[in-house]
Amino acid sequence: MKFDESNKAYQDACKVIPGGVNSPVRAFKSVGRIPLFIKSAKGSKIIDEDNNTYIDYIGSWGPMILGHSHDYLNDGVEDIIEDGISYGFSTKKEIRLAKLMVDLYPGVDKVRMVNSGTEATMSALRVARGYTGKDKIVKFEGNYHGHNDSLLVSAGSGALTFQTPTSPGVPYDVIKNTLVCRYNDIESVQQVVSENKGEIAAIIIEPIAANMGLIPAKKEFLIELRNICDKEGIVLIFDEVISGFRIGLDGAAGYYGVTPDMACFGKIIGAGMPVGAYAGKKEIMDYVSPVGPVYQAGTLSGNPLAMHLGYKLLSYLKEHQEVYSDIEDYAVKLKNAMQISIDKYHVPCTIHQCGSLLTVFFKEGNIVNYDDVKECNVDLYAIYFNAMLNQNILLAPSQFEAMFVSHAHNQDDFDKTVDAFDKSMAKVAGAL
Ligand SMILES: *Cc1c(COP(=O)(O)O)cnc(C)c1O
Repeated sequence: MKFDESNKAYQDACKVIPGGVNSPVRAFKSVGRIPLFIKSAKGSKIIDEDNNTYIDYIGSWGPMILGHSHDYLNDGVEDIIEDGISYGFSTKKEIRLAKLMVDLYPGVDKVRMVNSGTEATMSALRVARGYTGKDKIVKFEGNYHGHNDSLLVSAGSGALTFQTPTSPGVPYDVIKNTLVCRYNDIESVQQVVSENKGEIAAIIIEPIAANMGLIPAKKEFLIELRNICDKEGIVLIFDEVISGFRIGLDGAAGYYGVTPDMACFGKIIGAGMPVGAYAGKKEIMDYVSPVGPVYQAGTLSGNPLAMHLGYKLLSYLKEHQEVYSDIEDYAVKLKNAMQISIDKYHVPCTIHQCGSLLTVFFKEGNIVNYDDVKECNVDLYAIYFNAMLNQNILLAPSQFEAMFVSHAHNQDDFDKTVDAFDKSMAKVAGAL
């Protein structure tokens, strides 16, 4: 395989874009490569600048649930463009999408559109703080909520109470109100809540964590979180930027039967357009400006093209709910076939699957939180990733991400993926 054009583009890009990329995960650093530059994509396939065609399991990190460049979504886009792609004014398209989201997602009455998942979580936390009049928030180690200053924090070495920024440029003063707990560990939450009694505004969580590899929360854990929040007057925020409308029409909330007070969305609700949203109960959302005192704004929020495509995708999914069972079936079959190769070559792996998401962890045994994830062998992941890429299968270029199955993946893709996986595991086994 040749990567000459990607290489050239990368050299060029590095002159004017930091590291040649606009988001670090695209750098392929953790798998020892340079970025691929993409030319086009259709269905389950993505094509790079060297005309290498891959079966794509990234799917723009979730939105491409129907596959790339789907005809139904493409249809009529020209008309929208013809009418003007941005006004900075209200449109009926925003109401349509908001109504559909309120209709489908449990427990939310109102939605505010923003432009990214990062903005959604940042704004939701501000509203929760304004609503409760409290400053402290709780997040979980290994959960990702975008690159907000106050959330770029991890628990300092073992001690849950001494948090540290995970990036230069984030002052300690900004994160001192962010408390970090262990995922799936209710005792760590109980401890932090009792040590900060009456001071916590919100608990934010990825109910199906997909940014430290895929780790679904334990149901009991979420139920207990809900109880603690009810008892202590804490706003429970589900970050469903990945899971919302991908795990099902009612997201992780529906999957677990646990309803949050607020929820954040992104990725899929724009069908690939840059978009985000936060939603919640009326009494909380009415704290948002201009009806309430909490300021939050966005010049290009509710962009007509994004609202049009988001509405079309969600309404399609509502009318074709078999999409969810189809992509889950594919993921389950893939998991089972992968497990056969893992057993055959005795590779130390654990596969997690939930709905259409999967992660192959290079570690055996229970993986329930970030401490477990840190024990994964990332060198083996890199061998696996490269072996798959060389067989034209494109996976997330990091151990700490998920695979996304789309409705465009077919039996031929499945057979090729399983075959490539078997050969890749043989290769990994050779390196053990
Ligand atoms: C991707 C993601 C975000 C951030 O969304 P951006 O649009 O990249 O800002 C936040 N939370 C979760 C769970 C995500 O997966």
